Amino acid sequence: MNILVCGGAGYIGSNMTAMLARHGHNPVVYDNLSKGHKSAIRNAQFVRGDLADYDLLVETIKKYSIDAVMHFAAFIEVGESVADPLGYYYNNFCNARNLLQAMVDTGVNKFVFSSTAAVYGEPETIPITEDIAKQPINPYGDSKRAVELMLSFLSKTGKMNYAALRYFNACGAGEDGTLGEDHQPESHLIPLIIQAAMGKREDIKIFGNDYPTHDGTCIRDYIHIEDLCKAHLLALDKLDDEAELIFNLGNGKGYSVLEVIETVKKVSGKDFTVITGDRRPGDPPVLTADASRARQQLGWTTDFPELEIIVESAWKFHNANPDGYGD
Ligand code: UDP
Repeated sequence: MNILVCGGAGYIGSNMTAMLARHGHNPVVYDNLSKGHKSAIRNAQFVRGDLADYDLLVETIKKYSIDAVMHFAAFIEVGESVADPLGYYYNNFCNARNLLQAMVDTGVNKFVFSSTAAVYGEPETIPITEDIAKQPINPYGDSKRAVELMLSFLSKTGKMNYAALRYFNACGAGEDGTLGEDHQPESHLIPLIIQAAMGKREDIKIFGNDYPTHDGTCIRDYIHIEDLCKAHLLALDKLDDEAELIFNLGNGKGYSVLEVIETVKKVSGKDFTVITGDRRPGDPPVLTADASRARQQLGWTTDFPELEIIVESAWKFHNANPDGYGD
């Protein structure tokens, strides 16, 4: 299939693009490079463009005879979204609407959407199933939830089949450790700890150690980027017959912040300073996925569920690319 990968120069989008190419698809990356990296794009056509540019979207869809769209181009920082809600609703919601309009107007009717566990807010039951209440507590989560709702209503008109994939903590590096995380500024736990292990930052700060968990630190469900992308391929295959697909993507096993730090120490063989700070606002104590729906309906299995393997792949990427993609 000819697949438009919006945000294909970013962390998840670039891994997805490489995987699509490996599986015989023709990915076309559409990215404005505001956050992504041109050198992360492998084996794909590249169009530098903005999702706000309806005319360029339509032109690109027609030029490459696009059959389906995967959409990764969004802002992802919770704290930033609280400071700039309008910026988040514009980029994550309005631009997604623009993209869907371009798809409907050109007759493209398969859409795979990057969603997030942030749509659940602070869930009362763990592990999280797809059907529990969606009560986002920040503009980031709500902007994703709003797109999900728009997709649901749109699918009921018969004009769009979609899969909304709710990611837990995507991490690790794909393509044999060559496609990893390079965010500016970095805010994600595993790359930050690796920076401490590499001596690129003085320490790693734990955001709170007084949570009701076994060691007091927050527990998250870390899912390897390759496993995450694999689920997109499976979902895409189903969109010929299914109008609405919604799946959690996680391993179902949680690791605490302290356990992640210990794993990085073990994998890297490095020691570094760990300090404990205040809680980060809006962090629920435990977020783990019940991903049995994806396992049953998609036949999804994870190849790299062990945290050590995930961290090894990230460590490999950061060592080979100490300055990230350098662009
Ligand atoms: N975290 C931390 N120190 C950091 C960055 C993150 O203790 O410097 C914690 C954060 O509070 C959360 C977990 O690590 O409990 C994962 O955070 P991340 O930002 O990577 O992902 P999130 O769960 O927010 O999507």
